[in-house]
Amino acid sequence: MDTILRTHSKLELCHPLKGFAERYSFLTAPKFQNQDFRFCSRKVVKKGYTSGSVRAKSSSALLELVPEIKKENLEFELPLYDPTQTPVVDLVVVGGGPAGLAVAQRVSEAGLTVCSIDPSPKLIWPNNYGVWVDEFEAMDLLDCLDTTWSGAVVFIEDGKKKYLDRPYGRVNRKQLKSKMMQKCISNGVKFHQAKVVKVIHEETKSLLVCNDGMKIQATVVLDATGFSRCLVRYDKPYNPGYQVAYGILAEVEEHPFELDKMVFMDWRDSHLNGNVKLKERNRQIPTFLYAMPFSSNRIFLEETSLVARPGVPMEDIQERMEARLKHLGIKVKSIEEDERCVIPMGGPLPVLPQRVVGIGGTAGMVHPSTGYMVARTLAAAPIVADAIVQYLGSGRLSGSALSANVWKDLWPIERRRQREFFCFGMDILLKLDLDATRRFFDAFFDLKPHYWHGFLSSRLFLPELLFFGLSLFSHASNTSRLEIMTKGTVPLVRLINNIVQDRE
Ligand SMILES: Cc1cc2nc3c(=O)[nH]c(=O)nc-3n(C[C@H](O)[C@H](O)[C@H](O)COP(=O)(O)OP(=O)(O)OC[C@H]3O[C@@H](n4cnc5c(N)ncnc54)[C@H](O)[C@@H]3O)c2cc1C
Repeated sequence: MDTILRTHSKLELCHPLKGFAERYSFLTAPKFQNQDFRFCSRKVVKKGYTSGSVRAKSSSALLELVPEIKKENLEFELPLYDPTQTPVVDLVVVGGGPAGLAVAQRVSEAGLTVCSIDPSPKLIWPNNYGVWVDEFEAMDLLDCLDTTWSGAVVFIEDGKKKYLDRPYGRVNRKQLKSKMMQKCISNGVKFHQAKVVKVIHEETKSLLVCNDGMKIQATVVLDATGFSRCLVRYDKPYNPGYQVAYGILAEVEEHPFELDKMVFMDWRDSHLNGNVKLKERNRQIPTFLYAMPFSSNRIFLEETSLVARPGVPMEDIQERMEARLKHLGIKVKSIEEDERCVIPMGGPLPVLPQRVVGIGGTAGMVHPSTGYMVARTLAAAPIVADAIVQYLGSGRLSGSALSANVWKDLWPIERRRQREFFCFGMDILLKLDLDATRRFFDAFFDLKPHYWHGFLSSRLFLPELLFFGLSLFSHASNTSRLEIMTKGTVPLVRLINNIVQDRE
């Protein structure tokens, strides 16, 4: 078990350079702390192991494992884009993640011509997505959850846990992507397998240049390239916090968790009692365990740093996870897949408005206090799609004027203020050590469900967010109140300043 997490210790970050990616090692990347990057998540399989998992015959055997990127494609015949058939498409969607496909699906449904460009359009998305069931229910996507738990549990510390009466689910990414692709195909979306490297704008249309030499003309260009932020421009220094996590979907001998509850956060730290240095690092910048138990011997386990600037090194996270699993008596027999998660949180919004429109990770849509985004993005996709359909259909708008209206619908003033408030939350979280973090979440999950559900699912807006803040303050212990006041004053001033400066 000791070596289970050492099979591949380097996180690779791809740094976009004029549209091309360069690979950086996580621990040595000098740009990691404050520059933009693109995260590459990887799954591993042992060479020659047919069931697709890494099997641990003994601890030492793990060291010999050679990781491979596991790629599973959907079985679709893709209708390819043909420039002779459609010389100028209404919409090009760059990036075929959840955000891009959701918009492509909806715009094509309205009868507009759409081309989706992605380097691996058939690849099943690699990330393990978790969502609150009510979020997917509201979008009629319950069939895209493969497992649900009737509630969740938060371990504040040894001897203190809270049950959250809110069902949680794991997204069946194969089902979700298949469903979206099927709809896209039947609506007439065409696909091009490549990377976009450049966009050149004319007054009423744009020209996209791909890395295979293909040039595609479009009336509207949507950047949905996730954290690589391929085409969308930013004009302020990029200084996000980073959520960093290491997760494994594993076969284990046994685990101590209840099967009907997912573990939303486990902040216990007794597993570090024998390691003074690690315990101190965890005291300063804590990490928690997030776990989805599927059965008594199959579980997804993810050690997570909620947010830190700079991000916690992946090896540190893995070391903490290793100690935690050992302490919990979780013996890993095999790893089906692993995930290295680096999510930029907060930071500035892109230039608003700009000619290229955006959605998802590229458009600042990650929740700055939690790192969640999938449900919010899928809910926002119809807004972006309907705006494109409406403004294109009216025939009165084109070029920059059209894009400006789409951006306005995606980031109206109330959403921008909401995001400022969430960034304020992130600024406070960045300053909390383990004890303060525990006190914070102790008070947070004591709030009325309307408040904590609404905060996590981006459903609260100003002025209700102020009542949320007051309610949190009233639930907090005296120590926690003092912490919020001392550590929150500067972020609060920044929040007020930003809100005052940002006008319609
Ligand atoms: C490991 C991990 C786990 C996460 N887990 C959760 C979770 O549990 N819940 C949650 O709500 N959020 C989660 N997130 C955050 C967020 O929801 C995801 O990052 C989500 O995938 C973002 O969706 P997207 O469509 O914006 O971008 P992506 O899913 O990143 O898709 C972008 C697509 O664009 C393509 N692309 C990139 N550059 C180019 C180019 N130049 N030309 C053409 N195509 C290009 C990429 O190949 C990719 O297919 C997670 C993130 C990560 C990294």
